[in-house]
Amino acid sequence: MGLMDEKIILFDWDDTLFSKAEYKKNLRGNLARICEVSEEEIFELEEKYFDNLINSGDFQIDDFVRTFSQRFNKKINLEDFSTDRLGIYSRALFPETIGVLNKLKINFQLGIYSQGFDSLQKIKIKSSGIENFFDQNLIYINRNKLDPEFIKKLPNDVIVIEDKKEVIEKLKDTGRFQLFWINRIDDQKIEGVTTIKNLGELVNLI
Ligand SMILES: [Mg+2]
Repeated sequence: MGLMDEKIILFDWDDTLFSKAEYKKNLRGNLARICEVSEEEIFELEEKYFDNLINSGDFQIDDFVRTFSQRFNKKINLEDFSTDRLGIYSRALFPETIGVLNKLKINFQLGIYSQGFDSLQKIKIKSSGIENFFDQNLIYINRNKLDPEFIKKLPNDVIVIEDKKEVIEKLKDTGRFQLFWINRIDDQKIEGVTTIKNLGELVNLI
């Protein structure tokens, strides 16, 4: 826990600290190997599973694993997917993530501002091995991170690092945050917001 007067940085999770594409690739590759089916078959069932979840509550890792186990009639060890035993989580961090957090933690309190299923996001944070960089009181997760009631819960005057343009624009409208847009995709910029292409740039900017 940092000092009270340390400034707070809130990081978006997916595609800011952690590559969603890399995570899904690791998940599918391991499920396909264990179930002895193609990654396409895993992908189809995974899409169906998440489509159903949107209306039916939170993600549960045991239900998720059971879905594949039952469909392909294979025994799957729950811990292979709820922990980092197979490297599914830690290998999805961007290469610069840990180095940058190590530098920023010296002068800042670090937290998370993330969208998704609460329990899935918590598994990702814990299993990726970087949970201890973050103050537990500064972990904000919501199914819709742009819900105005949820945004109200964020502390004032914090630094937010985020990859989604629409999130940056909405937060910018509140005038309450110091924003950095991480755009790994192209050369687009947002007026009045510092745009970076790699987390490493933060170290010299803040
Ligand atoms: Mg994101």
